[in-house]
Amino acid sequence: MSTRGPSLTVIVGCMFSGKSEELLRCMKRAAIAQLRVLLVKPAIDTRNMATRICSRDGRCMDAINVSSTAEIPAAAATYDVVGIDEAQFFDPGIVAAVRTLYAAGKRIVVAGLDTDHRDDPFGSIPALLCIPEADLVRLRAVCMRCQGEATRTFRKSTSQAQVEIGDGDKYEALCYACYGPAVAERDGTLERASARATVPA
Ligand SMILES: [Zn+2]
Repeated sequence: MSTRGPSLTVIVGCMFSGKSEELLRCMKRAAIAQLRVLLVKPAIDTRNMATRICSRDGRCMDAINVSSTAEIPAAAATYDVVGIDEAQFFDPGIVAAVRTLYAAGKRIVVAGLDTDHRDDPFGSIPALLCIPEADLVRLRAVCMRCQGEATRTFRKSTSQAQVEIGDGDKYEALCYACYGPAVAERDGTLERASARATVPA
């Protein structure tokens, strides 16, 4: 982040890649620099206490819950730095809100999933990455099956809903090589294929 003027950093990656840790690190750094820091999260994310953002390594900071992105610029009026977590869950107005904050000279750090469990673009994260001033920080997790570089969020259930709040109980971080076989196994493709293979010609 530059020392003066607006900036926009977008932190993306699959689940378990440390996005919230990186967001909190940026916020703590700004607080040490005597800047006024506001953390925002969508009201949908109920994994943690309502007014805290906690990373997986156990560090927490106070945050406000926002149900509409239209509330963000007014809420941020008296702050220098605005951190936004789980941004994929916000309505499409998040892009306009971030542009408004930038125009007002704020430093903005956004964290979110760039793709969902099917590898489709998630919410407005791709649109945020297309803001020309955005700096991209792309994080990777450790693959929970081979300990390689995980880029994908694998949902253990066959539910197709894009939004299904969960943690390690519902999701795994997987690498490219492990993801395909995991999906096939989950969906029973392998079982059907092997059943066909044993049918006599
Ligand atoms: Zn793997």
